Amino acid sequence: RIVHVNGEFLPEASASLSIFDRGVLFADAVYEVTAVLDGGLVDFDAHQARLRRSLAELAIDFDPVAAGLIDLHRELIRRNDLQEGLVYLQISRGVADRSFLQPANIRPSVVLFTQAQTLLDAPAAQSGLSVITRPDKRWHRRDIKTTQLLYPSMMKTLANEQGADDVWMVEAGHVTEGSSSNAHIITADGSLVTRPTSEDILHGITRAAVLDYARETGAEVIERPFTVAEAQEAREAFITSATAFVTPVVAVDGVPVGDGRPGPATRRIRAHYIDHSRDRLRY
Ligand code: PMP
Repeated sequence: RIVHVNGEFLPEASASLSIFDRGVLFADAVYEVTAVLDGGLVDFDAHQARLRRSLAELAIDFDPVAAGLIDLHRELIRRNDLQEGLVYLQISRGVADRSFLQPANIRPSVVLFTQAQTLLDAPAAQSGLSVITRPDKRWHRRDIKTTQLLYPSMMKTLANEQGADDVWMVEAGHVTEGSSSNAHIITADGSLVTRPTSEDILHGITRAAVLDYARETGAEVIERPFTVAEAQEAREAFITSATAFVTPVVAVDGVPVGDGRPGPATRRIRAHYIDHSRDRLRY
């Protein structure tokens, strides 16, 4: 694989980052994951806009447009001949002697790599996911897409050890989100219920696209927190993320959702999201 580090394209084995990078020492870094279909970027502009916001919240001085970020993505896709998968982008504050005081005037470190991955025909789209619930013990600025991912990584691992696919995290009795996805339900009356955006969850790009679509089709979209019991009693449940697109959830803490199989509304939303994304790929 060819990767990109601080202005250079090079083989992954030759790529390196300082051990003093603040991303390594403090998770003082933000990231984005952009899906690639047919060699084109899905929703690049929305990812770039969110990146800007994450950078601003942490006062990391990096201008995605001036840095030619889209060209770095395109070039990496080309060099790796990537058709389907993702581009991972990480920007840290930069390299400095270890100190809790954030240094001013250092140069951000920029890393990009690709991962080839089956997205369209992912098995989970057919089988659905089983999730378990766990308390959400992350920090309280989940709207900033930082690389501080230890807790969700621990919980995803725990879910796998317990024979489940993923975790839904719960705070004050309500579902926040998945380890790396937003969580949604379709209630008995056909409404799409999803937690509103706030500092409690990541403002998912896929979430926003799916809500727009649901509203366009005349579906009732209700942005409010929902409980685990509501999810277990829902007609359908699903997650959204850049690489999972729209993936059904068929069990919550061992309780089947609906008839325990992926439902028609989720299928329809997934198919539409994929078509819509394919129509607007950036090359
Ligand atoms: N929530 C969390 C915690 C995530 O890590 C992700 C994926 N990055 C999402 C939600 C989904 O966001 P998006 O649709 O922009 O990938």
